[in-house]
Amino acid sequence: MTRTRIPVAVLGATGAVGQTFVRLLADHPWFELAEVAASERSAGKSYADATRWIEGAMPSAARGLRVTVCDPATVRSAIVFSALDSAAAETVEPAFAQAGRLVATNAKNFRMDAQTPLLIPEINASHLALLAAQRAARGWTGAIVANANCAATVAGMALAPIHAAFGIRTLFMATMQAVSGAGYPGVPSLDILGNVIPYIGDEEPKLEQELQKILGTVAGDAIRAAEFRVSAHANRVPVEHGHTTVLSVQCERPVTVEGAREAILAWRGDEQVRGLPSAPAIPLRLHDDPSRPQPRRDVMDGSGMTVQVGRLRADPVFDLKLVAMGHNTIRGAAGGALLNAELLVATGQVPG
Ligand code: NAP
Repeated sequence: MTRTRIPVAVLGATGAVGQTFVRLLADHPWFELAEVAASERSAGKSYADATRWIEGAMPSAARGLRVTVCDPATVRSAIVFSALDSAAAETVEPAFAQAGRLVATNAKNFRMDAQTPLLIPEINASHLALLAAQRAARGWTGAIVANANCAATVAGMALAPIHAAFGIRTLFMATMQAVSGAGYPGVPSLDILGNVIPYIGDEEPKLEQELQKILGTVAGDAIRAAEFRVSAHANRVPVEHGHTTVLSVQCERPVTVEGAREAILAWRGDEQVRGLPSAPAIPLRLHDDPSRPQPRRDVMDGSGMTVQVGRLRADPVFDLKLVAMGHNTIRGAAGGALLNAELLVATGQVPG
């Protein structure tokens, strides 16, 4: 099918996640990067001048785009990807939704809002049913759809088949999160090189509440959260890209390692997602090699959209233990938001 590419905007286009959007949009078959916006500090400059580009070569089509402020009167695209700092997202994203735009956001602000889908399309495409209630409650013609926290996204993908088959009762997790998760310039090199920082501000509460919403079910105008408890430890490690998390899981129903293995191998996610441009052929890859997954070797599998699972084994205290790893700025941020928007386009839910 040939289709005219839909013009889209990136808010916060100069940051770490914004740059990932710009990179992924350069060759996107459905979307065309038409507008870039950021703070007053960057507005008025060309994208090339405003941005300290982090990785590879800046796509040539983006270089000459003029950076604007994040105002719906200036930014006209119907689909808006937000990579904004949360302080700016609080007012900017509702203003765009009010102005009739579809906002696919990475910021934390609306993730736990009762009428905002916290979308990982392979797991919970059905949560888009909330959008009618969101529009009615807020009086918006547009909408906000949120991505989960990057480490929660990685854990949620790994746990989705286990939760569907056996029901999670209790989860313990400890993350090892890449430096690109802190944005740009992020963590000072002298703090992180050869080091581990056992604290990431505001991260553990997100991990302890987002997973239950992601794995929850639609109940009327809201999500009935999955009922399990999470204890999360978040650590920053000197890895460039790729958040790793170790997980110990206790289940509601009897589970064996072999049963969990079969559930993971059989899981393909919601069929509506298959074939979308950013959907990986294999959403979860299960490793048998006990030394995998590793960020350096596995993070770009499925163009950064496949989540890696390994070391699946019995846990003497809980039922199962395993490790999961995924690309934080692709699967956990820009790639995930692109997939969300693709699902909205494919299901005819993009405002005209
Ligand atoms: P970042 O590198 O610090 O970039 C922040 C962006 O927001 C920049 O483009 C900045 O523009 C813009 N901005 C800041 N204040 C603004 C204002 N008052 N008005 C308009 N624009 C403003 O951060 P990041 O890591 O890309 O993260 C972006 C968002 O994604 C955050 O909400 C973060 O929590 C979330 N997130 C990040 C990751 C990750 O792995 N990094 C993963 C998931 C979610 P200027 O350059 O003009 O200052």
